[in-house]
Amino acid sequence: MSTELEAVIGLEIHVQLATKTKMFCGCELSFGDEANTHTCPICLAHPGVLPVVNEQAIRYALQIAAALECEVAPRSIFHRKNYFYPDSPKAYQISQYDIPIAGAGRLGDVRIHRAHLEEDAAKMIHVGESGRIHGSGASLVDFNRGGTPLVEIVTEPDLRGAAEAAQWARLLRETVRQLGVSDVNMEEGSLRVDANVSVRPVGSEELGVKTELKNMNSFRFLQRGVEAELERQRALIEAGGTVEQETLHFDPRSGDLTSLRSKEEAHDYRYFPEPDLVPIVPTEEMLREAREALPELPAARIERYEGEGLSTDVATVLATDPETADYFERAAAASGAEAKIVANWVTGELAAALRQAGAETGAAGSKVTPEALAALVGLVAGKEISHGSGKTVLVALVTEGGGPATIVEREGLAQMAGDDGELEAIVAAAIAADPAAAERVRGGNEKAIGALVGAVMRETKGRADGGEVNRLIKQQLEL
Ligand SMILES: [Zn+2]
Repeated sequence: MSTELEAVIGLEIHVQLATKTKMFCGCELSFGDEANTHTCPICLAHPGVLPVVNEQAIRYALQIAAALECEVAPRSIFHRKNYFYPDSPKAYQISQYDIPIAGAGRLGDVRIHRAHLEEDAAKMIHVGESGRIHGSGASLVDFNRGGTPLVEIVTEPDLRGAAEAAQWARLLRETVRQLGVSDVNMEEGSLRVDANVSVRPVGSEELGVKTELKNMNSFRFLQRGVEAELERQRALIEAGGTVEQETLHFDPRSGDLTSLRSKEEAHDYRYFPEPDLVPIVPTEEMLREAREALPELPAARIERYEGEGLSTDVATVLATDPETADYFERAAAASGAEAKIVANWVTGELAAALRQAGAETGAAGSKVTPEALAALVGLVAGKEISHGSGKTVLVALVTEGGGPATIVEREGLAQMAGDDGELEAIVAAAIAADPAAAERVRGGNEKAIGALVGAVMRETKGRADGGEVNRLIKQQLEL
């Protein structure tokens, strides 16, 4: 079979909300505290207790809904998702089922199917060799995490490749981070990504059988896991087999995919409405507040920057780093040069100079003020110094701060003008010193001019403008 198969990927992202307290009780949220020190009868599921919903969690969920342009349900309800496992003392998780708080929306090119509120499970810690109660090890439960508010965001299957999926997940994380509703730390589990992966013949509208890759805790692993699974499915289908619906675990160390459960073993959660909680009915005030709390989000910033002439790559780099983006905007405002040129200096030359100096801060925390960068870009754009000298000045600004003019003056970097005779003399000397190259250029060999330009640049220590040198060489060779 040689039908070309395309990837069809949807993501489910669990976001831990950064509220002060848990979803249904007053226990403080904690990470890294001693186990089982943030618990109470409610999150330990003692008999007879009643959950009370955390209003801040609802407000945060509404902010996520607003950022993802989701329709907000005027009245959504909680359900009990029944399952039996030590991480859930109630033997059910309070979640939302058929009426989630947020319905259809979108982020960038990917449609959001829904977003709902739920509580996190407790954390299982497997110790000892086998990690089983009956082996040499044991499984312990830390209930500190149990009951942490979560928003689960589910996309439509709109992603068409592993790299695209990872890139979009980064955009989502940055969006949620900028909202300030979660610390989105993947290593600590505040952001967890599952991927639904299938393939289908190109041009087909039907969805293939999907598998679910669970709990990838970095974007790199997400990309590698999805790549591995796509490869497995393609090979299977090309060999005449069929994909079975199952849940998989990707081991980033070995690159192996192992089955956690098949369709037959899939849970029947027996959802039913949570009788102890009232429906969520957001007020007009809550909806307005959620909308008004929105900062300019990365997707909108990317679009605005593209409108100002920045490339998509540079716009994306800036929009996902708000501090540097604000820096760029201040520099662009202070500069007479095009925004695109300033942006390229910020993300290119300045970033390189900071790396080279081993700086631990980005542009915003560096000694180079936006005004100094704007002045420097102006000097280069106005051909008062060459681009190479501009980089030299930038390296000095990174370590000593101040303004570029002082450094240009001190280092004698002012560009040599073509009309004061000095540059003409150097060009003439370069031609005289390399008659063979001059002859080749005269003979029509365009590339040979490089040797002459290089000689002039060495002599002027990069202070001459390359275009001007080219022009003078051709003029003197009477071309
Ligand atoms: Zn509690």
